[in-house]
Amino acid sequence: PEKLLEVNHLKKYYPIRGGVFGRKVGEVKAVDDVSFTVRKGETLGIVGESGCGKSTTGRSILRLEEPTSGSITFEGEDLTSLSGEKMRRMRREIQMVFQDPFASLNPRKTAGLAIAEPLEVHGLGDRRERGEKVKELLSVVGLDPYHGERYPHQFSGGQRQRIGIARALAVQPKLIIADEPVSALDVSIQSQVLNLMEDLQEKYDLTYVFIAHDLSVVRHISDRVGVMYLGGMVELADRDELYDHPLHPYTQALLSAVPTPDPEAKRERIILSGDVPSPADPPSGCTFHTRCPHVMDICREIRPSFKNYGGNHFAACHLLEK
Ligand code: SF4
Ligand code: MG
Repeated sequence: PEKLLEVNHLKKYYPIRGGVFGRKVGEVKAVDDVSFTVRKGETLGIVGESGCGKSTTGRSILRLEEPTSGSITFEGEDLTSLSGEKMRRMRREIQMVFQDPFASLNPRKTAGLAIAEPLEVHGLGDRRERGEKVKELLSVVGLDPYHGERYPHQFSGGQRQRIGIARALAVQPKLIIADEPVSALDVSIQSQVLNLMEDLQEKYDLTYVFIAHDLSVVRHISDRVGVMYLGGMVELADRDELYDHPLHPYTQALLSAVPTPDPEAKRERIILSGDVPSPADPPSGCTFHTRCPHVMDICREIRPSFKNYGGNHFAACHLLEK
């Protein structure tokens, strides 16, 4: 399958400033050397606990966060080297869907205006054409085409997320980065929105990067899944391979906490000790070593590299190197 996006050695460090002169006294390693590819037409899920760097990774692709280093190649072009105008045009190709699509929007703006805004920004169509497009988009996402006149508070959470998706679709992107798009919704509404996203993917040939903390949500929609911990990607594999045969101790612990309907497949719950360390002071070597049930001496010294263990199953762990 054709590669659409390639992220190579992405790092995003935030300086910590202190003292009277605001000197840099340290840094938060929000994303620390993450690499992955996204194939055309697939959904790559990225899962991890809050603060693991998954959102920063997603936002860096669009340069809503400026990467500290590394490259982000979209259709063969390195986005990190694009100037303002070129990057603006590229933003048509890559759209983002957020947890609450209206959080950043004016509550006194109608749904129709919210959906039309990206068309306006990119200079697409006149007022009448944009109005027609809004109606079309509303019905595409399963809403009443005449409800564009309504205000955000007149819609339910699920309907608001449909509007967020319509807004992202307006400029006909190739890639959609969805950051916790269903986390705020009830479980029954979650699956409706996920099913809608799958239908739209099919219909418009979309590629998704789907970011979430919920393992069952990610399992529902993803073709491949990457697991992040403390700024790094610790495992990446085809969806079923990852859920049925996790290689990394952190993934194994995460999955052991998810209830399975099949009692035969029941795993022993792995309880991790301690909390996730601060990304301002990450542990040496393997960043998971402070909590890993299998920690060895080498783990405290040397950071394990992210390697392919066969069948496109990648993981970073010294145990596997033996
Ligand atoms: Fe655990 Fe060591 Fe593997 Fe890290 S490298 S996950 S500490 S066994
Ligand atoms: Mg799919």
